[in-house]
Amino acid sequence: MTKHIFVTGGVVSSLGKGLTCASIGRLLESRGLRIRLQKMDPYINVDPGTMSPYQHGEVYVTEDGAETDLDLGHYERFTSSAITRECNVTTGRVYDTVIKKERRGDYLGKTVQVIPHITDEIKRAILSLDSPLVDVVITEIGGTVGDIESLPFLEAIRQLGFELGSANALFIHLTLVPFLRASGEIKTKPTQHSVGRLREIGIIPQILICRTEVAIEPDTMEKLALFSNVRREYVFQEPDVETSIYEVPLMLAEQGVDGAIVDLLKISCRASDLSAWKIMIEAIRNPTDQVDVTVVGKYVNHQDAYKSVYEAIAHGGIANRARVRVHRIEAQEVESEAVQKRIASMDGILVPGGFGARGMEGKIQAIRIAREQRIPFLGLCVGMQCFAIEFARDVCGLERANSTEFDPDTPHPVISIMPQQESIFEKGGTMRLGSYPCALAEGTLSHKAYEADLVYERHRHRYEFDNRFREAFVRQGGVIAGASPDGKLVEIVELSGHPWFVAVQFHPEFKSKPDRAHPLFAGFIGAAIKRRRHGAAGGGRSAPAAEAADRESADRAGAGRNA
Ligand code: GLN
Repeated sequence: MTKHIFVTGGVVSSLGKGLTCASIGRLLESRGLRIRLQKMDPYINVDPGTMSPYQHGEVYVTEDGAETDLDLGHYERFTSSAITRECNVTTGRVYDTVIKKERRGDYLGKTVQVIPHITDEIKRAILSLDSPLVDVVITEIGGTVGDIESLPFLEAIRQLGFELGSANALFIHLTLVPFLRASGEIKTKPTQHSVGRLREIGIIPQILICRTEVAIEPDTMEKLALFSNVRREYVFQEPDVETSIYEVPLMLAEQGVDGAIVDLLKISCRASDLSAWKIMIEAIRNPTDQVDVTVVGKYVNHQDAYKSVYEAIAHGGIANRARVRVHRIEAQEVESEAVQKRIASMDGILVPGGFGARGMEGKIQAIRIAREQRIPFLGLCVGMQCFAIEFARDVCGLERANSTEFDPDTPHPVISIMPQQESIFEKGGTMRLGSYPCALAEGTLSHKAYEADLVYERHRHRYEFDNRFREAFVRQGGVIAGASPDGKLVEIVELSGHPWFVAVQFHPEFKSKPDRAHPLFAGFIGAAIKRRRHGAAGGGRSAPAAEAADRESADRAGAGRNA
């Protein structure tokens, strides 16, 4: 029988519940257990695909083409569990299903209500992950206890806890224990209130995980246990991590979190083996190289808008044992000469995905710097499209070349809407989404990086490389390094005579893991290290420029909890 863990959050949002769930998943897998992870989001959007990255951060795309919450990215990076469409359930999706059933007449004349119809639908969604091949399902309830909109989800898991029984359902509450600088004190009251609130709803958490800035002393842990009615040995702390988010599983394991979970759920399993994970953490802690790369994008001011990109860059660093400092540059600012200089001083340039015309000329300028100054470059989705435009304009002499997304009247639409997209007007879930095959051309950087002839990568786009542009592109030194197996869709382009220049129509960042960096990110960081060491074909970046970049306040990808 599949057992269930329900994780709720208290006091404030952005506690890192997704990371904690992913870490618990990792710990259970390290004991040989087969797990699934799932996130319940209390908002009314059917999925986050229609939300602005400023609102919601990155939209994470699954293998089966669902547009989901970015926490699913953590789940996939930390564990080997299958992450599919079923793993993200929103209020919108639940109501959509219930209303469709009502219209079909499935409720046989009944009044359709939040309890039991909405809660039943939530329970069905949770139990849909049960299978003889799954030992434990971890369900994260988005939002904070006390929010009006999360009530139906909490009621549903309360009912499930009751129905499944205490050996099959476990409630974990993640809470904030703040440190008040002015009085130099740690405060337990918000946690008492939040657990109290849960108990009013009928949920009694058996495990309490306290997010904290500073270590919590034993007597405060006692107090938390007493006031929250949680046994002392089941109260844990999760201080902010210094080096990398990938340390969280180890931090929880040291305190025995996984042992507590298997005891409470009466699971017999083998002892935990985290040796491979520990070796990876050692590599993160002891880099032998350091490089500076820039991400030039439209949403760089939002912490989480390119979450998987920043993580994949960090993974590329781990694979090369390098510390990667990521300089985020707002695409619109590239027009300034100072910013262009800063870009030219980097060891690598990355242009990530995006939508709409704003900032697109800046991305094109950044790509020109990468091409002309022979700086390693990785373009993702719109980053690839901007390269096609840059190359068309500057190398092929096609003035005003553009994507029809940015300029519908361009005389040279080198990027244009996919024929299948032309008749689609609804916005939600209608792009080319999910995993598609890509055949790689021999002798290309991509073929070398992947060491494969055929790969599968995830997509999220409406526009594509226009085949009418292929001939001119190749004639002038562009390389079609990857295409759909029928040869119709260009998926990867490169630049001949450049040390490392790869631009892809898909999103490789979604498939990168800390212990298995995506080959293109590993290749990109590898090329950046080479440039740092030897310069571009001898004439690398100038020392003053490099020093200026070093002085720059740079954040390190994947370092902080919200990096
Ligand atoms: N806006 C582009 C398209 O729809 C690229 C999308 C992206 O970067 N994810 O094709």
